[in-house]
This record gives sequence, C-alpha cells and structure tokens, in this order.
Amino acid sequence: MVTATVSDLAAPAEGSSGWPIWGHDAAVAALQQAIRGSRVRHAYLVAGPEGMGKTTFAQVFAQALCCQDPPAPGLMCGVCLACRKIGRGVHPDVQAFSLATQAALAEKSGGKNTSLTIETVRDVCSTVALRPMESSWRVVILDDGETLQEIAQEALLKTLEEPPPFVVLVLLSDDLELLLPTIRSRCQIIDLRPVRTTAVVDSLLAAGIGQDRAEEIAALSGGRPGWAHRAAADPKVLQRRMEAVDRALSWIAGSGYERLVTAVRLGDTFSKRRPEVFADLETLLGVWRDALLLHADQPHYLTYRGNAERLNELARDWTMDDLHRAVCSVQTCIGHLETNVRPRLALESMVLEWPTISPPGRL
Ligand SMILES: [Zn+2]
Repeated sequence: MVTATVSDLAAPAEGSSGWPIWGHDAAVAALQQAIRGSRVRHAYLVAGPEGMGKTTFAQVFAQALCCQDPPAPGLMCGVCLACRKIGRGVHPDVQAFSLATQAALAEKSGGKNTSLTIETVRDVCSTVALRPMESSWRVVILDDGETLQEIAQEALLKTLEEPPPFVVLVLLSDDLELLLPTIRSRCQIIDLRPVRTTAVVDSLLAAGIGQDRAEEIAALSGGRPGWAHRAAADPKVLQRRMEAVDRALSWIAGSGYERLVTAVRLGDTFSKRRPEVFADLETLLGVWRDALLLHADQPHYLTYRGNAERLNELARDWTMDDLHRAVCSVQTCIGHLETNVRPRLALESMVLEWPTISPPGRL
C-alpha cells in the first residue's frame, strides 16, 4: 500500500538496480520488489515534471514484467524477443497511448491535439480487456495523463475500478493535480524526483555520449534524465534551456518594478501556458538554489554551473537568510499555483519576498 514517494538524493549508487535506469533507485526497487513478491498492482501512476524519464521508466517496467529470460525475478535481460519488441514499441501485449498516438490516428480530422479525448480512453479500455498473447501480462501505458479531459478521466475510472487480473495500467502525468482524486486514489503513485547530476552523466555515458558533452548537458538538466537524453539528441533543446536560465537570471536582476511586471505577465498567461510557467518556475528555483549554494561555498552542487559568475555578481550583497527566503518563495508559489491560488497573486507575492538588488549589481 505504501506509495513510492521517493527522494533519490539519498539513493545508493546509480545503475546498480539491474534496470537500465540511472537514479530513481527507490522507485525501481519498489517495482522490483512487487514483481519478486507477486504483488504487482493493476494501476500505477508515474508522476514527475516533464523530462524526468517517465516514458523510459514505464517501458523498462514493461520489460521487467514481460521478459522471457529474466536473469533474476524483477530484472530483464534486454535481449530476448519480448525485451526487444518492447524496446521497439511493437510488442503485442504492451501498448502505449499518448497525444502522439492520438494525433497519428486523428490525422485526417486536423483538429487541435492538446488533450487526450474520451475516444482515446475508449481505445485504452478496449485494449485493457484483451487477454495477453505472448506474455502473462498486458501492459497499457497512457502517457500525457495531465491532458486527460475530465469526461475522459471519468471513462477511465471504470477500468481502474475493475481491471482484468492480467492487466497493468501505467498512467504517466507531469502534474498530479490535473487528475481527479478518484483516479489518483486507485493507482499506486510512483513519484519521480530529480536525480543526482552524476546519475544523469552515467546514463548519458551509457548511451554513448562523450564525457565532456555528458557533463555539460547533465549540469543543465536539473536532474532530469529524460530531458538530458532529448538534449543530447537535439541541440535546440539545449539552446532553449540556456534561454530559460537566462530569463530567470534577468528576472532576478530586474528592479522591483520590473520583477512585478514579469510576475503579472506570467500570472495572466498561466491558464493558457500552465506547463511553460511551471517549467520557468522550476528553472527559477534552480537559479536561486545555486545562489544559495555559491553563498555557502558549495559550487560543486550547482545546477547551472555556466552561470556561476553572473550569479555571484548578483548575490554578493545578499545574506544566507535573504537567499533562503527567495528559495522558499518560489517553492511556496509553485505550491500555490498547484492548489489554484490566483496566479497573479501567487507570483506577485513571490517576487516581493526577494532581496532587493543594489544598482551596481544590475545585469
Ligand atoms: Zn528479456
């Protein structure tokens, strides 16, 4: 019954779990134990911010369930036909549904594709009812769960209430609050948190990325392995990240008035750009944390190492208390936005907590 809400900061050595997952060790251990003890649940909800590696995590879990030649219970071999088919997305007993698969099906209709519809959930439910053909489980992965329309969530509830005994449904969501409480309570929640930078480096090295590039990307990843692998494959992803860090630094470096203007602008667009605003706030939190770490003379833990000089310049007059209050203000703001406090109010209260900037430190 215990929800695997884990902090990987205290996890053991990366990659030691036997799954090709670096970091997220406690979450991996919880699922491995479930498989070993034949206590696999019928519904899991893998939650965590975008880029945390949720899709890969679900795919590896499916391999552990369906592997034909596991080296030990709870592990997968990675080379049998089942493991390879799951890796290529063509195993008949492992289906993934997402905005992308929905778009592929609805290509002709040409409509917007920003939320998972009830039709897609109906497809999920009819897939769930089919007996597995090649393994003892049918694994159905539903990605982009945070975009499920309410009526679609209600349709999904029926399946969650009485799943067939051979089914494991894995729902993935960037944002738990966008799912009905009744959905959340019927799933075991696996909360994926940022992993250590060294774990991100190791996972990039394992994918054949060179040491220097792996370290550069990992330093910008904010502990998100999924993001790091996308950045390794697409330079634009890295570029956008650097721009986001730059935006956060400029926000901090602004005058009191400029800070408020940015807060109001983000607040007013929150309902339309919810994921982007949350992403900006996560970046902002990382930058403030870095300022705190620099102040505490702990530069080796920095998330955005490339910006240490600019941050040092900004933070030189601030005290530990100032920086701590700023970090807390961002955390509080994220919490408020998740619990539907008025966005503008939440963002304005946040910037008012920040230490003021002395004119020579302006960027
Ligand atoms: Zn296998």
